[in-house]
Parts: sequence; structure tokens; C-alpha cells
Amino acid sequence: MSSLPQTAENDVLRSFIAQHEKLFLLTGAGCSTESGIPDYRDATGAWKRAQPVQFRPFMQDSAVRRRYWARSLIGWRYFSKAHPNDTHRALARLEVQGRIELLVTQNVDGLHSAAGSTRVVDLHGRLDVVRCMSCDNRILRKILQKELVTRNPSWAEMHARQAPDGDVDLEGLDFSSFDVPACLVCGGILKPDVVFFGESVPKHRVETAMEAVQRADAMLIVGSSLMVYSGYRFAEAAAAAGKPIAAVNLGRTRADELLALKITQRCSEALSFLLEDATRVR
Ligand SMILES: [Zn+2]
Repeated sequence: MSSLPQTAENDVLRSFIAQHEKLFLLTGAGCSTESGIPDYRDATGAWKRAQPVQFRPFMQDSAVRRRYWARSLIGWRYFSKAHPNDTHRALARLEVQGRIELLVTQNVDGLHSAAGSTRVVDLHGRLDVVRCMSCDNRILRKILQKELVTRNPSWAEMHARQAPDGDVDLEGLDFSSFDVPACLVCGGILKPDVVFFGESVPKHRVETAMEAVQRADAMLIVGSSLMVYSGYRFAEAAAAAGKPIAAVNLGRTRADELLALKITQRCSEALSFLLEDATRVR
């Protein structure tokens, strides 16, 4: 399947996109690595580092929350500065051309929206919003950042290697003195408005996405290994409905056997023709 030379691969992807009027897009971490946001998995789909925080320990253990927010305080400085790259721009361009039924992203960085895409479902939520788990009050992450810094000035100076989802690699430190703010409305536990590992995706997001799969003519996966079921199920649904599926991903995907077409390239490279066309039109 991937034995074609690279330019031939690109031509096949180009005709796949040309032949299918309405696309259901599913995007993952591979879209954002070129914006400087690291991903979790290597080319074989295996974990690159220790698994991220799980939902239940976060909710049950204040020590887990102190560790999470200490790392997040440092990670936010990098994460909040990320900008959309050519992959986000190429997919936003496809929407302008009326070719996107829906773009479902597993990323929590909001970069598709920042690039101009509007038909977006943030399947796993967004890191720039924080939610109270008791009263559901939502605040902007940048507001909480100020509070975190005010309460923990010495942590605000630290540097560490960036990890996925606004996290950093920070081990061997004593987190016990880290001061985590509670909800200003009710004193409840604050959690980023993203779906943690071990937590389910809100039902209405899944339903919206499933309906779009049925309306679409084909599915295009960009930069995801689909190792997490929350994304894989859309490939299963598309295959069951007889919709052809193409994927752009540097490594193996869990859906490899369902694919009509697989492009093993960086996302921006594989989709660059969309931006070339845009230049020509202008
Ligand atoms: Zn609250």
C-alpha cells in the first residue's frame, strides 16, 4: 500500500480528496507536532513516556492534583504560545471550499479553530478552559494561570521539557507545598475541560460526530494512530457504512486494515497541495 513513490502517493491522496465531495475528518496529535506540541506515541503506536494523569486519581487524590497543576503551570507557558501550522491551514482551506462535513479532533489545543476552521468538534475538550467539577462553572485557563502563579511564585520560574497536553516532564520534586486554587463559586475541584484518560467523551459530541460520518462521502484521518477507542470508533462506523477511509500518519494506525489509502508522510507535507492550490486561485 505504501510502496508507491512519495509523489505518486500524493497524487493518489489528491484524487481521493477530489473524488469525495464531503469529508469526515478526524485529526490527532500528528497535526500539532509541527506547532511544537509533543505527542504521546511513537511510530509503532506505543507510549513514548509515562502515561498521563488518569481521571479517577485526579478526582480522588489532592496530591495528584497538586502534581498535575504544578506541571501544568509550567507547561501552559509553552502550550499557550503554539500557533497553527500548514496542516491546520490546509484543512481550514478545505472547509472554505465546502468540502468538510465535520472536522473531529482529538487534540485539545484549539489550533484548528485558530486556523479558521468552524465545523469543528473538540472530541476531548479544550485545554484553554477550566471547569468546576461540582457546579460546572467554567473559567479561562489563562485566568487560572494568573492565580496559580500568584500562589506559587517559585514554581513560575521553573523550566522543564515540554510533554503532551500542556504538561511538562518534571519528576523528583516535592509537590506537597503547591497551592491549588478551588472554584471561586463553590469551592469545588477545578479540572481542565478536557477528557482525561479513564473518563468518557460527552455523549452529544460522539452523536454529532457519528451523524456526520453517515452524511459524509469518505473519511480522512490526519495525524492520528487511533490507538484510543474514542477516535477509532469513527473509523469502524465509516467502514461499516461502506465509506472509503484514507489516513495520513507517520506510523502505524489501529485502523490500517480498514484503510483504502495510507500516506506515510508528515501531515503538512502530504496536504501541502491544498495550500498550493489556494495560492494559485489568488
Ligand atoms: Zn464550583
